[in-house]
Amino acid sequence: MFRKLLALGLLVCLLSGSAAASERPHYITQYTNGSREEKRIAITIDDWYEPELLPEFLDAANEYGCKLTLYPIGINVRPKEGPFWQRAIDEGHELGNHSNTHKNLENAGRDTILAQLNNMEKRLEEALGHPHTMNTVRYPFGAGRFNGTRGAFAKAVNDAGYSHVALWDIDSTDAKQILKKVENGSIILLHGRKKDLRTLKAILPELQSRGYEMVTISDLLRIAPSAAAQP
Ligand SMILES: [Zn+2]
Repeated sequence: MFRKLLALGLLVCLLSGSAAASERPHYITQYTNGSREEKRIAITIDDWYEPELLPEFLDAANEYGCKLTLYPIGINVRPKEGPFWQRAIDEGHELGNHSNTHKNLENAGRDTILAQLNNMEKRLEEALGHPHTMNTVRYPFGAGRFNGTRGAFAKAVNDAGYSHVALWDIDSTDAKQILKKVENGSIILLHGRKKDLRTLKAILPELQSRGYEMVTISDLLRIAPSAAAQP
């Protein structure tokens, strides 16, 4: 009898536990791609250890009607290149938050997560001369993607002001590989460096001729401009 009661009690605990879990809010939403039904893709360019190349990336993208999404880390955003970042914004490209120092955030505490995201914003504000709201976070190394969307980690990201995390489904610097894998809704990951500038120039004409609309992450994922954090 006791055993039966114990088993019943355990069952009730498990059930109520899972019910409580499903009622907890999603602090963030994670995306690896947009709609597979629409002929739209996003090209994203990360890190920017060679920010002096930005104008060339923008020129190439503009030639093919492509809107880029740039994920620089804060320490690579300097007042020196402020006009380049401003130009990107003015021309309809988008900026997102990729942390301040490219720290792996997977096991980071709340204070570190807040500092990494807020310090990147400060660096960008210093370079532009005014604050600039970003819609999405991209985790350095993609690390943190398995931490879920409801726990303390996700809450810290949300508390920093973000409710959308943009990952990717194509990570290659090889133009042939990218063109083989690309499909509706793809998010292509490249980096702000010479090698990837060549890749970008190689894929743009082919993507355009295949009829893909090349849009920003916010546009691809249909995130409202300057989305407010809402758990
Ligand atoms: Zn990165």
